[in-house]
Amino acid sequence: MVITRPNILITGTPGVGKSTLGEEVADLLGMELVNINEMAKEQNLYDGYDDERQCHIIDEDRIIDELEEGIEEGGLVVDYHGSNFFPIRFFQAVFVLRCDNTVLYDRLAARGYNDKKIQENVECEIMNVLRDEAAESYDSKIVFELQNDTTEQMEKNVKTITDWVRDRQGDTME
Ligand code: ADP
Ligand code: MN
Repeated sequence: MVITRPNILITGTPGVGKSTLGEEVADLLGMELVNINEMAKEQNLYDGYDDERQCHIIDEDRIIDELEEGIEEGGLVVDYHGSNFFPIRFFQAVFVLRCDNTVLYDRLAARGYNDKKIQENVECEIMNVLRDEAAESYDSKIVFELQNDTTEQMEKNVKTITDWVRDRQGDTME
């Protein structure tokens, strides 16, 4: 019997804590963290430039091609704010991190984002944009929303995700 470790997606508005949480989860479980923004940058997987937002536009098709092999092997923790361009078969669980508006504002300001960018992202969180995107893209049974304002909540979220992965691995091996 082939035992394939699950692949999970950690998604949500910039600043909600995806990379911080993803790193901890990946370390604890010996999974591989794939930060899509870093991957695109390292491999130049871009498809143009957004002048208004002053950022590169990622080449979704090439990102998917590059991910295929790792997904097939299993054990990836994918970190990206969006969720709707991945094939649904990629992930066995999707964790949407959420953050209080004022906490998020402070995190983005500390990151040095300009007012417009901060406002855009805080509004995105208030309007549930990326939560809804995940909910519309995946089976509700595999989408989990996790509040991530405080370090206490983060520890709880680490436990929720690591427990989920360990339970599922147990299931597969029985
Ligand atoms: P993302 O990858 O979603 O953009 P990061 O992981 O980079 O977010 O986190 C943004 C900032 O918020 C970082 O400075 C990080 O240390 C802090 N942070 C993340 N999660 C929490 C949390 N649960 N409690 C307090 N601070 C957090
Ligand atoms: Mn990040």
